[in-house]
Amino acid sequence: FQKLARRDGLTGIFNRQHFFDSAQEVLRYCAKASREACVVVMDLDHFKSVNDMHGHAAGDDALKRAVAACQVLLRSIDVFGRLGGEEFAILLPDCPLAVARQRADAMRESIAASRREGDAAADVLVTASFGVAGTQDSGYNLATLLAAADDAMYAAKRGGRNRVKVYQPASGAAATPA
Ligand code: GH3
Ligand code: MG
Ligand code: MG
Repeated sequence: FQKLARRDGLTGIFNRQHFFDSAQEVLRYCAKASREACVVVMDLDHFKSVNDMHGHAAGDDALKRAVAACQVLLRSIDVFGRLGGEEFAILLPDCPLAVARQRADAMRESIAASRREGDAAADVLVTASFGVAGTQDSGYNLATLLAAADDAMYAAKRGGRNRVKVYQPASGAAATPA
């Protein structure tokens, strides 16, 4: 029961609460050990129309495939959770921003390439938009990292979807005047 309460019923990955608990614990360790970490936020593209066109069951199936497509690329120390609906977050400990960006892009490609086995005609193609934020720019607070990654994810949506954007701190916002 304990284990079920920590997992999302559809995809089997951590639910929102357990993602927060685990990610916060890992971030505390990273802060103490001065290890870089990154947060990736991912949201499926035009998912409402996937449901509208193919039905809710096909939507559920596409959600599970998207998660599986990411899981094969994750390490055991990465923390993967469903924040709600078709939105997910991944904490990548011990990972510099440039590498996190590459790994998010590999997940993006893996989702876009994933197909349901068997009936190719009934295949539902899904893509996702990604935002990445790192501790070097955003610090070790999970809420701050998630907000920054979310910001970047919305920039990826605005930029045309099926892409990865890295959070850019507003230049000079926190800088001391020259
Ligand atoms: P965008 O590219 O801007 O993200 O568009 P979108 O359609 O994905 O965004 P929106 O938030 O409007 O729609 C999200 C949809 O995801 C609406 C909801 O029906 C669907 N959804 C959320 N959770 C589930 C689920 O567990 N199963 C299924 N089948 N659909 C879900
Ligand atoms: Mg969406
Ligand atoms: Mg959404």
